[in-house]
Amino acid sequence: MPNSSSSTLSRLWPRRVIQAVSFFMLAEFSYYGIFRCPFAVPYVSCANCPVVQCPGKKLWYIVLGGIAVSALFFGRAFCGYACPVGTISDLFSSVALMKRKISPAIKTVLQKGKYIVAIGAAYLFFAMQNPRWAVPIRTGEFINSTMLTFEHASWLWLSRTIIVAGAIALGLVIPYFFCRFICPTGGVLELFSRFSFFKYTMTSSCFDCGKCDKACKQDTRPAQANCTNCGACKDTCPVDAISITHPFDKKD
Ligand code: SF4
Ligand code: SF4
Ligand code: SF4
Repeated sequence: MPNSSSSTLSRLWPRRVIQAVSFFMLAEFSYYGIFRCPFAVPYVSCANCPVVQCPGKKLWYIVLGGIAVSALFFGRAFCGYACPVGTISDLFSSVALMKRKISPAIKTVLQKGKYIVAIGAAYLFFAMQNPRWAVPIRTGEFINSTMLTFEHASWLWLSRTIIVAGAIALGLVIPYFFCRFICPTGGVLELFSRFSFFKYTMTSSCFDCGKCDKACKQDTRPAQANCTNCGACKDTCPVDAISITHPFDKKD
C-alpha cells in the first residue's frame, strides 16, 4: 500500500510547480477576464477586443487551444493544474470555514449550476454574438482602469462580475464553490472528462470506505463530478484502488 507521506509529496510537488508557473503566466489574463473584459462572455472574443493592453490579445488562442487539448487527454486537469482561479480556490480551500457540510442531495442540484451557466454563455456567444456589456477602457493604470470599467459598465456586466467575484470569494466558506457549482468552463470540461484519454479511476477493489472522498478538497471521488485528476487522493486508498487509466487499459 503506497500510503506514505513521501510518495504523496513526490506526487503533489510537480502539481504545485505547474500551478505556480501557470499562475505567473495567466493570472493577469484571468484578472482582465473577470474585472475588465467588456464582453458578456470573457476570454472568447479577444480577437475583436479593443482593450489593447489585455494579455489575452496574445494568449487567448494559445490558452483556449491548450485547454481543449488538455481536456481531450486529461479531462478537467486544467482546473487542477493550470487555472489561476483554481489555484486561488485551492488556497482558499485550505482555510475554508465549512468543509464538506453540503448534503449529497443539495450538492447534486448545485452541481448542475455550471451546466446551466455554460448553456447561458453558449447562448450569449452564438445566438447574441457575445454583446459588450461594458465600455472597453483602452488606457489608464491597472487599478484605475478597473475602477473606470465599474463606473461605466451596464448593470448586466456589474451583475455578472459581482456574482463571479462573490462566488470565488465564497470559496473561503465552502471549498471551491465557484469551480464546483458555477464556472461554465468547469462544466464544459466536465463533459469532456467523461471521454478523456487519461483519468484517475477507482478499480473493482474499491470497498467504498470513503477515505478518498475525505481527502478530496473538491468533495468528490476519482472520475466523479468535479474530479480534476489532481491525484491528491491516490495514496489515501487502503487497497490501492485508485490509478490512472486509459481506454486501452484492460486491467480492471
Ligand atoms: S472550474 Fe473554472 S475557475 Fe475553477 S479551476 Fe476550472 S476553469 Fe478555473
Ligand atoms: S477525487 Fe482524487 S483526483 Fe479527483 S479531484 Fe479529488 S483528490 Fe483529486
Ligand atoms: S479510498 Fe479506495 S477503497 Fe476507499 S472509497 Fe476510495 S477508492 Fe474506494
